Amino acid sequence: MAERPLWWEARRAQSTKPATYKCPFCGKQLPAMSEHMLLFPEGDHQRRRHAHSVCVMQMRKAGKLPTKAEWQATQPKPPRRRWLPWRRSG
Ligand SMILES: [Zn+2]
Repeated sequence: MAERPLWWEARRAQSTKPATYKCPFCGKQLPAMSEHMLLFPEGDHQRRRHAHSVCVMQMRKAGKLPTKAEWQATQPKPPRRRWLPWRRSG
């Protein structure tokens, strides 16, 4: 897996845990019960990060957090597989 994720899955976090996280973008504290978002690098739920919704929006605007669909759109399309039907005898 690459150091820098190619794409991110983002989801609105709903937590009732009395925990405090650190936002990876602004470095400030992030109470779990406040409005924030979960980020999954390349969909990896083991490596999820908690970030302020505002920070996520800013990163999205800066093009730093592409979704999977956005990342795929930047990739060269795989060659279309040509359909070669086997000749049937009979
Ligand atoms: Zn933040």
